[in-house]
Amino acid sequence: PEARGETAAAARPARKRNDRFADLQELKDIKTQQAVTDLLGVTNPFFRLHDGVAGATTHIDGRTDINFASYNYLGLNGHPEVAAAAKAAIDHYGVSVSASRLVAGERPIHRELERRIADFYGVEAAIAFVSGHATNVAAIGHLMRPKDLIVYDSLAHNSIVVGATLSGATRRLFPHNDLDALEEILAQQAHSHERVLVAVEGLYSMDGDFPDLARLVSLRDRYGFWLMVDEAHSLGVLGKTGHGVAEECGVDPRDVDIWMGTLSKTLSGCGGFIAGSAALVEYLKFTAPGFVYSVGMPPAVAAAAIACFDLLEREPERVTQLRANGVRFVEKAKEAGLDVGSSTGLAIVPVMVGDSLRAVHLSNRLLERGVNALPIIHPAVPERSARLRFFITSEHTPEQIDEAVAITADEHAKLAKAGFGIKMAAA
Ligand code: PMP
Repeated sequence: PEARGETAAAARPARKRNDRFADLQELKDIKTQQAVTDLLGVTNPFFRLHDGVAGATTHIDGRTDINFASYNYLGLNGHPEVAAAAKAAIDHYGVSVSASRLVAGERPIHRELERRIADFYGVEAAIAFVSGHATNVAAIGHLMRPKDLIVYDSLAHNSIVVGATLSGATRRLFPHNDLDALEEILAQQAHSHERVLVAVEGLYSMDGDFPDLARLVSLRDRYGFWLMVDEAHSLGVLGKTGHGVAEECGVDPRDVDIWMGTLSKTLSGCGGFIAGSAALVEYLKFTAPGFVYSVGMPPAVAAAAIACFDLLEREPERVTQLRANGVRFVEKAKEAGLDVGSSTGLAIVPVMVGDSLRAVHLSNRLLERGVNALPIIHPAVPERSARLRFFITSEHTPEQIDEAVAITADEHAKLAKAGFGIKMAAA
């Protein structure tokens, strides 16, 4: 019967007749863009196939490249202790918990991870979700309501924006890291809404800079909003021991109402968390749809994250090394005349290009010379703010950093000299 099934499936054409998805305007726009880049001989750098564990190096098309496109900031993904913890959890619990935690999916390893996260921030409790993106969507979308106000940084991640949109609350943006502008919005509007949430990131994923957390806390005390900080990129990166933006800014983490983070960067897994008061966590555990109606986190992922916390605690020198590597990258880049925006080398370093097409072409040129760094183009960043984004890891060697910067500066200069991008894109 199996063979018959396969034969029948093979005989059927894969494409449906009258596939109306093909008419979606966004899809047509993507196809047009692809046709233009093909015409210009610029290959698409997205969805490239990698093999093995991505860190300071990665494997593309059977080659080993120096890699600046991985969130593996402290080199913990691929660490034997992390892999062993994940394998042991699979042996014990299986691959899935096969139910929502509320009903039959609760396992000791979930509670262990959540205790670990809460202790990391010195707060009462934490709750783990199966996706980082879904954590922001579920928490913000569920906590906030149409009569409320959400104010967030103009560079806030898509998951914050989607959560805010779904909540139905009034949304206001303030220019990136401009807390005077934030205060103006609060002074004018905070009193006319029931709940007010201010959402920022611990380390911005596009520019590699961070907010003045101490001032945010004092604004919170003055205006009485809920302060939410997304630590996706700052956990393990900021602060002397990797305890994030609170440690970096000398702020008591208990002064932040809602800590949000992901397991997909330093913690080498997949998933997200909210940490804060016991009441906040209890509320989400019993009522947030993205938690209640979703399967519990796979045990292997929870175990890997716990092993990463162990390593972070035991080997804080990884954080020091990451910072030294970032500073080296930025110094060398500036010496070479590259524009790194406001980044000081905290794990994320943009190299500004401006034109989207030029950024894509530059990324391809670098890969030809053994350096993998991805372009970030509109709409992820504003038009004319296209850049290559370099994610630094503690595992990069000084030689790898110097070589990558030299190649980037060389190719960047060649494309600028040729006028590639702006004129061609406009033509
Ligand atoms: N918040 C921020 C600031 C992010 O950059 C990301 C993704 N990189 C997320 C949330 C979503 O996390 P995940 O990729 O783990 O779903």
